[in-house]
Amino acid sequence: MQFPLTLTHFLSRARDFFGTTEVVSRRPDKSLHRHTWRDVVDRTARLANALTKLGVRPGARVATLCWNHTAHLEAWLAAPCMGAVVHTLNLRLHPNELAYIARHAEDDVIIVDRSLLPLFHKFKDQVPSLRHVLVVPDDGEVDPVNGLDYEKTIAAASAEFAWPELPENQAAMICYTSGTTGNPKGVLYSHRSIVLHTLVSCMRDTLGVGEADTVLPVVPMFHAAAWGLPFDAIATGAKLVFPGPHLDPGSLLELMAKERVTVAGGVPTIWLGILAMLDADPKKFDLSAIRAMVIGGSAAPASLIDGFKKRHDLSVQHAWGMTETSPLGTVSRTKRAQADASPEVKLAALASQGYACAFVEQRHVGENGQRLPWDGETMGELEVRGPWVAQSYLGGEGVDRFTADGWFKTGDVATIDREGFVRITDRSKDVIKSGGEWISSVALENALMSHPAVLEAAVFAGRHPKWDERPLAAIVLKPNQQATAEQLRAHLEGQFAKFWLPDDFLFVTAIPRTSTGKFLKSKLRADYGDHLMK
Ligand code: AMP
Repeated sequence: MQFPLTLTHFLSRARDFFGTTEVVSRRPDKSLHRHTWRDVVDRTARLANALTKLGVRPGARVATLCWNHTAHLEAWLAAPCMGAVVHTLNLRLHPNELAYIARHAEDDVIIVDRSLLPLFHKFKDQVPSLRHVLVVPDDGEVDPVNGLDYEKTIAAASAEFAWPELPENQAAMICYTSGTTGNPKGVLYSHRSIVLHTLVSCMRDTLGVGEADTVLPVVPMFHAAAWGLPFDAIATGAKLVFPGPHLDPGSLLELMAKERVTVAGGVPTIWLGILAMLDADPKKFDLSAIRAMVIGGSAAPASLIDGFKKRHDLSVQHAWGMTETSPLGTVSRTKRAQADASPEVKLAALASQGYACAFVEQRHVGENGQRLPWDGETMGELEVRGPWVAQSYLGGEGVDRFTADGWFKTGDVATIDREGFVRITDRSKDVIKSGGEWISSVALENALMSHPAVLEAAVFAGRHPKWDERPLAAIVLKPNQQATAEQLRAHLEGQFAKFWLPDDFLFVTAIPRTSTGKFLKSKLRADYGDHLMK
């Protein structure tokens, strides 16, 4: 049969087969709100009726400015399944950027958390396309001057909605890249691309989410669709737990223990904080239910993966992806061929970005676009293609990122070994070129973060009169720990060629970050780039 791959199928499936399984949300006051999949599907239909009444037409953009919670998920389901498009706005962006993005996407209606109204009010007047505002009463009553109360509006609407039969290539969701240079670019996901991404994500060798899982997306729903984790949950009928705005290690650990979370996903910073807290008090939280902690968004240091396993018997699942790849691209796990390998070899495989998941194809190319050998050494730009990889940006921007033969240029520099394991060595704009040789900042950072006194390390290019660029390391030490530049240098010696060693170590209190929690190296270069010229 020609059966369309649309998200609508997930709705009836969740209601009919997993109707009593919980979807839990934490509010700003830390209270937990419990719904079931049946409630969520009913509320999604009510929202679709309410949006229809507000005049939302097929193809219109329904924006969200929300933390991770149940109402946000309802927007993710209602808008696409009624034929509109959900557009997630990143609440960590500057109001001017938000205004640009909401204008660019031509957002029609917005669903915004009451707790985020102060941010919304800073840019709402710059988005002329916005016709209606629905306010989620997450931290108190909604004043009608600010918009319609989300809960009251959906309560007044019918729980029956005649979901249209949509073509699978219909647009479902828009996410913008978190560009650190230039304007963010829009990426459109279709029903088909999300469904296929979900199916492959739930394969045992990918993230392997199943009905028995309890999934905690720590990664924000505005960051590359929370890596698809909420879709994995509804497709399989897993229990879903949303953290709301409480993303500090203590709150997350408490939630994981209380709700018996089995799979949680977040960026390395989140897990570095969690590991430090567990190390300080290993017995405080019962994490015996945890099966996998998915780490992506930037490289997971080997010491982090090793520390969780050795000290707390917790397994990390390292994954690489991008907004442009929906986001799953590669996932790391050891293969049969490594079953008898040494712990060091296994750890190196787990700390790599892994190999492409089913239906994603990978290659890396040199400066003239020639394919490079999979020898584990030759660095080149990683390119991917697949059914959930973008074929263009919204509005036809960034055409230079797409090759004539149908591949997407990731902008990541990587090596690929014989087994297909990808190792991201840098973003192409962060690569350090010293006397014409490339130095991997990521490899140096990983090694530095394995030093017991180092909490975080970011290595970046400093301008140099003789070598053009030399590596500099910005270091954040763990509380009450000490390490000198000489000690850190000694720690790296022997692991790297001499010319790779940073020329200096700058001890800082915090490393600047992007809106999605990555090290903001452009800021480090701007602040300290001339350090070696003095
Ligand atoms: P975003 O679209 O914001 O998710 O950013 C995508 C970029 O994050 C990629 O192009 C990589 O540079 C980086 N990234 C994501 N996952 C990883 C990972 N596991 N290891 C290293 N870099 C990563």
